Order: sequence, then structure tokens, then C-alpha cells
Amino acid sequence: MSHIFPRHTKVAPPKAMRGEGAYLFDETGKAYLDGSGGAAVSCLGHSDPDVLAAIHAQIDTLPFAHTGFFTSDAAEELADRLVQNAPDGLDRVYLVSGGSEAVEAALKLARQYMLETDQPERHRFIARRQSYHGNTLGALATGGNQWRRAPFEPLMVETSHIDPCYAYRLQTGGETNEAYGRRAADALEAEILRLGPETVIGFVAEPVVGATAGAVPPAPGYFKRIREICDKYGVLLILDEVMCGMGRTGTFFACEQDGISPDIVTIAKGLGAGYQPIGAMMCTQRIYAAIENGSGFFQHGHTYMGHPTACAAANVVVSKLTDGGLTQRAAQTGDDLRAALLDRFGQHPNVGDIRGRGLFLGLELVANRDTKVPFEPSLKLSARIKRAAFEAGLICYPMGGTIDGQRGDHVLLAPPFILTQDQIAELVDKLDTAMAKSLTA
Ligand code: PMP
Repeated sequence: MSHIFPRHTKVAPPKAMRGEGAYLFDETGKAYLDGSGGAAVSCLGHSDPDVLAAIHAQIDTLPFAHTGFFTSDAAEELADRLVQNAPDGLDRVYLVSGGSEAVEAALKLARQYMLETDQPERHRFIARRQSYHGNTLGALATGGNQWRRAPFEPLMVETSHIDPCYAYRLQTGGETNEAYGRRAADALEAEILRLGPETVIGFVAEPVVGATAGAVPPAPGYFKRIREICDKYGVLLILDEVMCGMGRTGTFFACEQDGISPDIVTIAKGLGAGYQPIGAMMCTQRIYAAIENGSGFFQHGHTYMGHPTACAAANVVVSKLTDGGLTQRAAQTGDDLRAALLDRFGQHPNVGDIRGRGLFLGLELVANRDTKVPFEPSLKLSARIKRAAFEAGLICYPMGGTIDGQRGDHVLLAPPFILTQDQIAELVDKLDTAMAKSLTA
């Protein structure tokens, strides 16, 4: 009997034995093309020799030093690299061990900033219905995924949720993309005014929505307007790039494509590329200075923050993504994969939308393409596709999202940036097989 506490107690997963490039192999030797990089994690693919060498070298000299006492070369170097490649103004890096930790740090820093700047009445956040920000209680409270939140509702930090920017379902006929972007963003202003601007700490959003909706990009101008509204009311803009950041959308930070810079940003997943658990929260000098000139101490912290071995791995990952040109490759390969998906599924009767940016792509599945009616939840279509794809040797990330009680099925694709043309063809073929099997079963 296994003593592991698995994610699902009724289904025993196979054992992963090794990884190589874009593939993982189980104990029978079966190969799985990693079409979702796990959950948008493995941007470099598996077993990159340079990352492994850096981890070994770090372990041989300094595996760990607690940040209550020390900083380290690996952490300093990583902070420098991230700032050099970040949007304007993001000057300080707080290193943690994953995405939820990064979001928790962002929420607490934002609250402490309000205290340090003499605005103690600011105590609540605004976020969006269609969003996922992590599974710890603060992050879960800002997320809008009703299924994940429901059991823990009594434990939530005060957050109100506005409509997401979700053109496929919420843009009206006749409305230009720009007009829709503006209307969707104006919902933030209405909510700030409803709550009272003096009570709001920050607005939290994923630039491209991942785990709840399958790579939904913002409408043109949406985030520019959001930035203006936040500035107008002294509300901090917190962008969660845990899934969409680190080159995945074809730029190192996803928000670069929206021409804005947040006050705080969170990153993880691709930062460690799966080689080590690591995440980070970055903030502006203005926010940092409020702490520095105030209490001098951010009331937060975790044992493994700034872990030197994790930082050593991330240094190689970030250098490959930036100087090594892998982010540009994600943009090009993303264009190729999108073209292949459009070619294969563009006219599919059950594919309502193919969307995303770079190598962060999603398909929305519908019972009827013309009416956009989703499939019945009882069909568990996403779970079926995941299973059928896995059988066919493809890892993809299907999910049933819920927005305002309306359910929809999506498939998220987020493969390693090293994907070849042959592997693009393999991915599309296997997805086609899995969808055909699931839709007729
Ligand atoms: N934010 C976003 C946007 C995410 O997609 C995730 C993970 N799916 C998280 C936060 C939480 O990250 P982690 O699972 O590393 O805690």
C-alpha cells in the first residue's frame, strides 16, 4: 500500500520515471508529450543539462542559508536578472517557493503599504470572477473559481469580484474590441466607487487568464484603462503572472504586450521551470520605500525563501529565456502551434474559440458553435479529454471553469518552448484523437 496522500484518492496515477526534452516517461516506458508543461511549468523541457549542472554546483558549495541571517550570490544574481528584464519600475524582488506564496506576499505587502502610508481603512481587494491565484487562503479568496472556493468560503479575506475581460462570451455584437476592453475595465471603477475608494487596497488580475478559462487574453486597451483607474483612486495594481509570465506569452512578462507596468507582480512556474520550487513577488521602489522609511520590516517570511539552490536553477532558466532567446522562440512556436490548431479545429463543430498568446493557448469547447451553449457539466467532458489524451500519450490541461454559475469546458496548452515542428503535429494529432474519443463516448 502506498502512503502517499494523492490529489485524487480514487485514481492511482502512473509513476513518472524520467523526463527528456518535451517528453515524460512512466514505469512501463510509455512516452507522454508534455503539451501543457505540467501546469505551464516546464518551459525548458525536461532534464536540461545546464540547469542540472547549476543545481549540482550550488549544492556542492552552498545548498541552503536562511534569509533571516544571509543573502547569497545566487539570490542576488536572480534579483538583478529579473529586474533587468522587468517592466519599468519593478525594482525589488521578494523570493519565495511557489505561486501561492508569491500571491500571499503580494496581498500582505499591499496591505502593509497602506498602513505605512497612513491609509489603514483600506482593507479589501477587488479581483475577477474568472481567475485563479493559488490555493492558500488569501490567494483562494482573490480567485474567482467557485468550485475551489466553496468549501472554504467562511475563511475568506474580503474580496469582491467583477466580470472578467472575456470577449468570447461577454463582448456584445457590434461592439469593437476596443470598446469592449474599455467597458470591461470600467467595471473596476464602478466597483471601487460602490465600495468606497478609501477602503480598497488593490485590484488583482492575471494578464492572460490560465487555470480557470484556458488562456483568455485581455481586449485591446483593457489594462491601460485598468491602470488609469487604479492610479485615479490610489488602488494598487497587482498582476498575477504565475502562469502567463516568464516568456510563456512570447514576451518575458505578459503585461509588456499591454503596455503597462503593475505596482506588484507575482511569478513562479516557469521561473523554476520545474527544476526547483521557486516563485517571486516584485514591487516598485515606491512600495519598497514605504516599508524602508516606515517600520523597516515586511511582516512576512517563509523558511525556504531565497533558497540558493532554487535560485541557482532559476538563474539558468531566466538567462536562457532572455539572453538565450527562448522567449522569442516561444512567440514563433506559439504562432506555429496556433496555426496548426486553427487548421485542425478551426471549423470543428464543438470548438467555439481558439485563443491565447505565444505558447499559452486555449480551446473552448461548446455543444453548439453557433449558440455557444456549453456542454452539460454531468458529461465531465474536460476530465474525459484529459484521460483520453493521457492514454494517447499527451499531457494537456483540460478544465471545466465556472463563471457566474455558467460552466464551460476548456483545454489549455502550454508546452515547452523547445517544441519542434514534428512535436506540434504530434500534439495536434493526439489532441484530435482524444477529443474525437471523448465527444463520441
Ligand atoms: N496564480 C496563478 C495564475 C496560477 O495559475 C497558479 C497555479 N496554477 C497560482 C497562482 C498558484 O501557484 P502554486 O500552485 O505554485 O502555488
